[in-house]
Amino acid sequence: KPIVLSGAQPSGQLTIGNYLGALRQWDRMQDDYDCLYCIVDLHAITVRQEPAALRNASLDSLALYLACGIDPNRSSVFMQSHVPEHSQLNWILNCYTQFGELSRMTQFKDKSERHNNNVNAGLFTYPVLMAADILVYNANQVPVGHDQKQHLELARDIASRFNALHGEVFTVPEAYIPGVAARVMSLQEPTKKMSKSDENPWNFVGLLEDPKMISKKFKKAMTDSEDPPRVAYDLENKAGVANLLSILSGVTGQSIDSLVAEYEGKMYGHLKGDVADAVIALLEPVQAKFHEIRQDQTLMDQVLRQGAAQARARAAVTLEKVYEAVGFVLPT
Ligand code: ATP
Ligand code: MG
Repeated sequence: KPIVLSGAQPSGQLTIGNYLGALRQWDRMQDDYDCLYCIVDLHAITVRQEPAALRNASLDSLALYLACGIDPNRSSVFMQSHVPEHSQLNWILNCYTQFGELSRMTQFKDKSERHNNNVNAGLFTYPVLMAADILVYNANQVPVGHDQKQHLELARDIASRFNALHGEVFTVPEAYIPGVAARVMSLQEPTKKMSKSDENPWNFVGLLEDPKMISKKFKKAMTDSEDPPRVAYDLENKAGVANLLSILSGVTGQSIDSLVAEYEGKMYGHLKGDVADAVIALLEPVQAKFHEIRQDQTLMDQVLRQGAAQARARAAVTLEKVYEAVGFVLPT
């Protein structure tokens, strides 16, 4: 089976963007792929985190992965920091990545502007750690939202470059980007993507939010002042409405075209109410499962132990090949 690797940062509560762009694909891929899903806590500290909140968000993420259908008996689920091979490979790959390449990463530009009091080296080299996450398992497919496309291209470049110098050590990974709702946008600023670490909570919908709050957030979502109001999928001039349509399409599976036809002549409030209801219905069973799992510390511990053991065994094989390829003396 082809190998799949993906992960999300415990930098806040997972959102419907993370769900539609990533988690839902992770679940669907488990039958046909050999899957590894991690909680990328090493990545999360590229932005300052409060330690207790980070620990809590990491455990919430684990319970949410499971609640969204990730099955620890079919997939390896683990904390990135429990598998030191990610960091070990990261260092080596740093030495095969150019400063200029990293300077061109748009996420670094965005995040270094947002967190301009803490533009640390980890934020800059983030894509190299992401490349290590993927390459250490020789992943073939990486299910990610559209925002990670550039990082994935870099991972491919690093792998090809290393292989050209040292022989076929790494598998060059492919991005696996969903067609619908690959890019869920912020509710208040629909020209930027929805992010769980956004400082304005009205911009995102978390997977654990209560139905009343979800309705409020969609009701307040930014649309436009076209008069009379017109429901149309126009990313340039009607980004807010397009985002609502895209979320509704992502959740219900109905095509954008048929949604546009259905809402012709209707008010924005009508669309907002329906999007909220669809999201609430989607999240209800997820939240119920989450609460059950999150209380079961024995289960959570067991999943993490098993996941880390499986991941480490595999990562160690690649790391040894890499050590050999670059000319390190292998420990005896
Ligand atoms: P942060 O603000 O801390 O960067 P995030 O919401 O961007 O958080 P990540 O942990 O960076 O989430 O990404 C986890 C996965 O979710 C990645 O595969 C990413 O592509 C996907 N993803 C993130 N935001 C969106 C979005 N708005 N729409 C679709 N997919 C998304
Ligand atoms: Mg992100």
